[in-house]
Amino acid sequence: MSTYTKKEILDIYNKPLMDLIFEAAQVHREFHEPNKIQVSTLISIKTGGCPEDCGYCPQAARYHTDIEKNDLMPHNTVIALAKKAKNNGSSRVCMGAAWRNVKEGEDFENVLKMVEGISDLDMEVCCTLGMITESQAARLAEAGLHYYNHNLDTSEEYYKEVISTRGYDDRLKTLDNVRKGKLKVCSGGIIGMGESVEDRVGMLLSLSTLNPQPESVPINALVPVEGTPMAEEHIVPSWDVIRMIATTRIVMPKTTVRLSAGRTALNTEAQALCFMAGASSIFAGEKLLTTPNPGEDKDAEMFETLGLIPTEKKKDNTDKFKIRKSLLEKEENVKWSRPGHVIERNVEATEKAKEIRKELKY
Ligand code: SF4
Repeated sequence: MSTYTKKEILDIYNKPLMDLIFEAAQVHREFHEPNKIQVSTLISIKTGGCPEDCGYCPQAARYHTDIEKNDLMPHNTVIALAKKAKNNGSSRVCMGAAWRNVKEGEDFENVLKMVEGISDLDMEVCCTLGMITESQAARLAEAGLHYYNHNLDTSEEYYKEVISTRGYDDRLKTLDNVRKGKLKVCSGGIIGMGESVEDRVGMLLSLSTLNPQPESVPINALVPVEGTPMAEEHIVPSWDVIRMIATTRIVMPKTTVRLSAGRTALNTEAQALCFMAGASSIFAGEKLLTTPNPGEDKDAEMFETLGLIPTEKKKDNTDKFKIRKSLLEKEENVKWSRPGHVIERNVEATEKAKEIRKELKY
């Protein structure tokens, strides 16, 4: 893995804009299909009442915002929303819960069932539930989760201006647990929180020097919300979003760069430059957790104008195979040469292994 120094990333970020976009587009075309876009749906499965103090977030219990708080959403509602999202063209669902960390118990068991249910719809599944342990990450992976999201938010230096209830090291520890639990890492940040360009670059340095680099990096522009400490921040210029996307693409060539919160402040032309510069995913729907987002009709019109084609989740069970095979191996001492091709198996298979095999149609 070749990585860039902070100075090199800063030089990339500050290139003349046309050069930056051109270079990013070249990298993008080498590793990604430039006319494809992944449409994701974010479901807020537990909203508000969070004990943390992230300065940008209307879900923190200590800020006086007008969001509607909810306990964990019922399983059937989540699955129905995921099916609707699939019918509307999403191939990925991210479930977000406003928790400091994942606690063992009924709620976590319910989230595991939701992950299984959405994975069974042949959709990519991601969760963002706060800090998790390695064993919780492994259980999510076994349930069929593909990615776990935990954003670094900003640079290590600026982090304390944004959040005081947990540190940068806690964030990095969770990302490490996600990796060890055999999940893909989704981690990005937010621009427009009063940080400097050096802080934006510092965050990209932290992400790009993770080994391996995150498979998914969401880039958000702050949506200032009344009642939060960042309510008076100015909307970030679209040029800054484009620069950030392009720089992310160059320093993390293979990652999926997601143009996330803040799209309502970007016109179609600005979003087009983001896609040109390396973004290949957006979130659908009129709300992104609690903040406004362009609706599906507007996005459909934009895709039509730009000739972008939403990607479909692959219809095979390769992902599920990879995720569940470690469990099967534990149960049966099975050795695999490739998906569907067993070279050695303990004959005394447990009931659980039989069930999994049936599900994998093996
Ligand atoms: S960003 Fe997440 S952890 Fe921070 S206050 Fe909001 S819900 Fe809580």
